[in-house]
Amino acid sequence: MQQWLSSMARTAIVIGAGLGGLSAAIALTRVGYKVEVYERAPELKEVGAGIVLYPNAINALKKLGVYDAVAAAGSFGRHGKYMTSKGETLVEMDLMDVGLDKESIAIHRADLQHALADKLGREKIHLGMPLTSFEDNGRVTAHFPGGSFASADLLVGADGLHSVVRRQYLKDGDPQYANCFAWRGVVTGEFEGLPAESGLLIFGAGLQFGAMHIGQGRVYWFGAVADKKGAQGRTKKRDVLERFQNWTTPVPQLINATPEEALLTHDLYDRKPTYNWGHGAITLLGDAAHPMVPYMGQGGCQALEDSIALGASMKEPPSIAAGLRKYENLRKQRTANFVIQSRRSMNASMTRNSLFISIRDFIFGKIPSKVLLKNLHTLSNYDQPDLD
Ligand SMILES: Cc1cc2nc3c(=O)[nH]c(=O)nc-3n(C[C@H](O)[C@H](O)[C@H](O)COP(=O)(O)OP(=O)(O)OC[C@H]3O[C@@H](n4cnc5c(N)ncnc54)[C@H](O)[C@@H]3O)c2cc1C
Repeated sequence: MQQWLSSMARTAIVIGAGLGGLSAAIALTRVGYKVEVYERAPELKEVGAGIVLYPNAINALKKLGVYDAVAAAGSFGRHGKYMTSKGETLVEMDLMDVGLDKESIAIHRADLQHALADKLGREKIHLGMPLTSFEDNGRVTAHFPGGSFASADLLVGADGLHSVVRRQYLKDGDPQYANCFAWRGVVTGEFEGLPAESGLLIFGAGLQFGAMHIGQGRVYWFGAVADKKGAQGRTKKRDVLERFQNWTTPVPQLINATPEEALLTHDLYDRKPTYNWGHGAITLLGDAAHPMVPYMGQGGCQALEDSIALGASMKEPPSIAAGLRKYENLRKQRTANFVIQSRRSMNASMTRNSLFISIRDFIFGKIPSKVLLKNLHTLSNYDQPDLD
């Protein structure tokens, strides 16, 4: 009881109001911490397009108490198809057949961020506050421009791919370009070949295109290209069409229907896994700790898993540092595996080698869809600790 009472008075700073930071803040609040989130952006406006949340993320959202809001805003994935760019079906999957039709949700990132922010309480999110540096002298102090600062018992660096917390703590340089960039867009409407609650993944040579419903009549698509860095210079629809113009329906239709100003372009990055995530009262979470290329759709899902492990580890720790190291130890190996597997999956998906492509497509065509689905489910399903 004494332990619990003292933890009630504990405080935490979370840097970054992305999905990792917000879910970490909810989890820490649930186990008794007074949490403040500091976000560099002046408004809470997630510019990303869509995101797919797999069974592990669904499980985490339930533990955080935001599952209902997310399920209401997004779209369950009930049908999936893998195809070639010429329109041949490699494998067709009906998730209802294997009882997995409520196990993944595709959602607009803004809707997910709003659901998490509403759950946390917006008064706890301080916008326009870019962390510039921190100190850890037993108690942590975070510094912001103009001389403002905040202090707490612990600090979570959930500040994404180019994390300032990581840069100051680990000094391990910039993330590595993955020789791949991607366009993303969201459109409203109906598209041939893409019925409600369905998704498509289409393979070409050094190219990949995906599309799925994300709820409220919207469709999210992405097109990925294996090429040298340069996403910033390719922001026009004609740049996308140059690569995907002759692809099967509904690829050109989706690109053409996207407002040019809504087109997003990203160079893709990751880092070799590190097993050093923190020291004293500082830790890392989400992309700040384990950025991965999005070829298994697990970056955000892993950030959600992190938040549950963090909350559970900080419930009644012998000390702040011991709790944070426990969290890191729970997470390091699992996330490292996903970083490595995501790279492998990218290499297999984005190859230009025609022999390899024939073998890959042949194998896809031979795997029974039930086996593929069960494997995907097993891969992401994961026993997560309780927050209560
Ligand atoms: C093309 C693409 C598709 C993807 N698809 C999927 C998918 O389908 N499923 C999936 O699970 N994952 C997917 N991901 C990965 C996923 O987007 C990330 O893993 C996830 O967003 C990480 O969340 P995060 O909170 O750690 O970081 P972020 O979402 O990057 O959030 C970090 C936050 O910190 C803020 N910040 C940064 N610096 C500072 C600072 N100095 N001070 C204060 N605030 C700061 C940022 O403004 C931001 O709000 C995809 C990624 C890409 C690029």
